[in-house]
Amino acid sequence: MQQAAKAFAAEVAIEFGGQRANARSVVALMGLGVAESDRVAVIAGGADAAAALEAVSQALQTYSAAGHAPAAAMAAVVEVEGRIAGVAAAPGLAIGQAVRLDAFDMPLPERGQDAEAERSLLAAAQLQVRGAIQRGIDAALRRGATAESDIFAAHLALLDDPELQAAAERGIDAGLSAGLAIRQSIRAQCAVLSGLGNQLLAERVADLKDIERQLLRALYGDAGAAPELFAASILVADDLAPSELTRLPRERVAGILTAAGGASGHVAILARAMGIPALVACGPAALALRHGQQLILDASAGLANPQPDAAELAAARAEIEQLAARQRAMQASANAPAITRDGVAIEVAVNIANADDAREGVAHGADAVGLLRTEFLFIDRCQAPTESEQTEAYQAVLDALDGRNAIIRTLDVGGDKDVPYLQLPPEPNPALGLRGIRTGFAYPEMLDTQLRALLAVKPLSRLRILVPMIADVGELIRLRERIEQLAAGMGVAELPQLGVMVEVPSAALLADQLARHADFLSIGSNDLTQYTLAMDRCNATLAARIDSLHPGLLRLIAITVEGARKHGKWVGVCGAMASDPQAVPVLLGLGVAELSVSPRLVPEVKNQLRGLSQQQCKIEAERLLSLSSAQAVRGRVVELWPAA
Ligand code: PEP
Ligand code: MG
Repeated sequence: MQQAAKAFAAEVAIEFGGQRANARSVVALMGLGVAESDRVAVIAGGADAAAALEAVSQALQTYSAAGHAPAAAMAAVVEVEGRIAGVAAAPGLAIGQAVRLDAFDMPLPERGQDAEAERSLLAAAQLQVRGAIQRGIDAALRRGATAESDIFAAHLALLDDPELQAAAERGIDAGLSAGLAIRQSIRAQCAVLSGLGNQLLAERVADLKDIERQLLRALYGDAGAAPELFAASILVADDLAPSELTRLPRERVAGILTAAGGASGHVAILARAMGIPALVACGPAALALRHGQQLILDASAGLANPQPDAAELAAARAEIEQLAARQRAMQASANAPAITRDGVAIEVAVNIANADDAREGVAHGADAVGLLRTEFLFIDRCQAPTESEQTEAYQAVLDALDGRNAIIRTLDVGGDKDVPYLQLPPEPNPALGLRGIRTGFAYPEMLDTQLRALLAVKPLSRLRILVPMIADVGELIRLRERIEQLAAGMGVAELPQLGVMVEVPSAALLADQLARHADFLSIGSNDLTQYTLAMDRCNATLAARIDSLHPGLLRLIAITVEGARKHGKWVGVCGAMASDPQAVPVLLGLGVAELSVSPRLVPEVKNQLRGLSQQQCKIEAERLLSLSSAQAVRGRVVELWPAA
């Protein structure tokens, strides 16, 4: 909603419970403590006040997913004698030693220099933190870690919040140091949020404290030394900041236990994404744990045992071993092909950003690379990589694959993926503007350099080039001809296979035409969902509704597979849908031949495919096409394949 307010020059405020908040400020709005269905007043003044009023009122009435929904089943607290009870924020069982990460309260200079100097110190710190958060977002996006990137994007909004800024500036004007001024401004807001009696808002306190910590570090250097970690550490804190978790080595973190927080807190979301068992909202009992104390954390049961005896430790070890054995069993068969019960082989490939990911994919049993996003080579730098640099990077990926094939996608920038040195013109609707192959055609030298770099890798028989954002066959023919010209110029006789990403509805509808000229089709379900439902994939408000199992999308996938079949071509899926266990039987039933997933998921997806019959999935998938919503599809999938 603050985004809606920011689009206008008018001053817009929201009034609730006798208080008024600036509609552009996330923290001020949260501070009102408005709950769903509450009535509020919208007040606007200024040139475009009427339009602003309309837009903000509209936004207020739009359903909001409030970021990532908490898992409802995880919210119950079970009290058991002698145990610490909490909310199971991420499932799992762990034995480890408590690592106390206590509240960050570094001493700060009380008084500042003159106000001017303190303001510029604060501005410089904000710039530094903004850069660090943005790098975190880019890195997370490159890894496909969307939960992480969304969280850091929310932090950017807090960092730039006008109310926090104004309060800090008032503090500086009153003679405080920049650090103390920002701390007081943030802490005042934390106190408001904690006192509202709204769990969801109270959970945002950890995010605010994270911003405080990062700003103070930027202002005064790293005050707290890195915590002493054990081989299996269970992080214990009042609340944990997302950046505190991501900066620790993953292999040492066995679990998380916090006094505050909640299942929808950002640390909980991260813990789930990283597979770390987490118990939150445990209250003061959590803070009675000593540093180094051994405990059993049974996050799935919502309990921690702070004084396990030998028998309990042995039982927990046995259970952990059983769970690990299941993982190992899946891992042991991960290298074998995924063949369905009725004998259909499905290729399970991986989405990667670099050669390290390729190695991780191979270690987890990937059959191939289904998507190398080459953007990683182009972002976070001042100029485009040279041809030889690119060849080296692509060759390193092929070399890491031990004879397997790699699908490498040409540069897909524009839209939400920015490359500053290209100076792409600002566009009113970037997602509908210059992006994907359109950007390639607009910067022909850059495209040629990349194509030449690709044509120089060896052996070309293992390389497949994939083109993003194709809207019709003309673009594909133009690209194929350019590849042929460049290959002829380089004396390359053998051409790599050429595939088309189906991520624009027109490409799905015209799949038969595309398949005539392409060697394979790969469905980019992230974009295909965005463009089919006309819902921005980066819009948190729509996050719960932008669902790839929407019947509209399933029909487009069915049309794509049918179009490709006419020309004997195969269809894969490389968007996040391929990693969704509820989508796997549906895609199998729709006739998809390849699923490209994140490396750690390969054993599980293969295991799931082996338990399915394509014939049965086909019959059911056809029926799903006549349902009327993604929810209805998911409901039916759960009935049909309860383990999915
Ligand atoms: C997609 O759109 O599904 C896809 C795989 O491409 P990206 O997520 O990189 O846009
Ligand atoms: Mg895409």
